[in-house]
Amino acid sequence: MEKTNKPKNAKFASFIKKNLYLILMIVCVIAIATMVGVTYATKHKSLDGAVDAVAKEKEDEPKEPAEETGSAEVVFADPLEGEVVGVFKNDTLVYNATLNQWSTHEALDVAAEVGTEVKCVYDGTVQSVTTSVLRGTEVVIAHENGMKTVYSLLSSDVKVSVGQKVKKGDAIGTIAESGTFEKHKGPHLHLELYDASGNKADPAEFMESSDK
Ligand SMILES: [Zn+2]
Repeated sequence: MEKTNKPKNAKFASFIKKNLYLILMIVCVIAIATMVGVTYATKHKSLDGAVDAVAKEKEDEPKEPAEETGSAEVVFADPLEGEVVGVFKNDTLVYNATLNQWSTHEALDVAAEVGTEVKCVYDGTVQSVTTSVLRGTEVVIAHENGMKTVYSLLSSDVKVSVGQKVKKGDAIGTIAESGTFEKHKGPHLHLELYDASGNKADPAEFMESSDK
């Protein structure tokens, strides 16, 4: 056995000797390849980490506004151009000189000349058109979002009828001569708003220019 191995060992030794440079080169190549591999793996890992972080950030981001179309912001058109002569007050009493009494004023009053066109502030359907001594001719418009707007102290020449669909900005009537229950303020629109829960709200809060 030994006899046969000896020449083989010698052969191997001479092979090593002959190809020393080749072997060293291969070892070097393996070492370099290993280094490159480790470097790449590390880089790749940190890149994955960064990608994960970005993905997580995206998850944490607030939902796009487009996904909230159900609660889209409601913006009213101005019902008319004019001076605000009464603002919404549900926590303090306001003196009404016409009725000689103190009460809350849960509406927006906009003064304008007699005959000034009053426009619907938002898309909806005319729910009622009534006339009373106190509130003059009054138009109630029901909006799709559950809100209701009430236009009081109008002239009897109302331009809409019950059941009619109206768009934001459509003319619905004109300012009457007498402000009836708010005569002391002169001719004006008394605009009330009911939210989806049926509570009175401030119409000015939904207008782009709340000074109108
Ligand atoms: Zn009023």
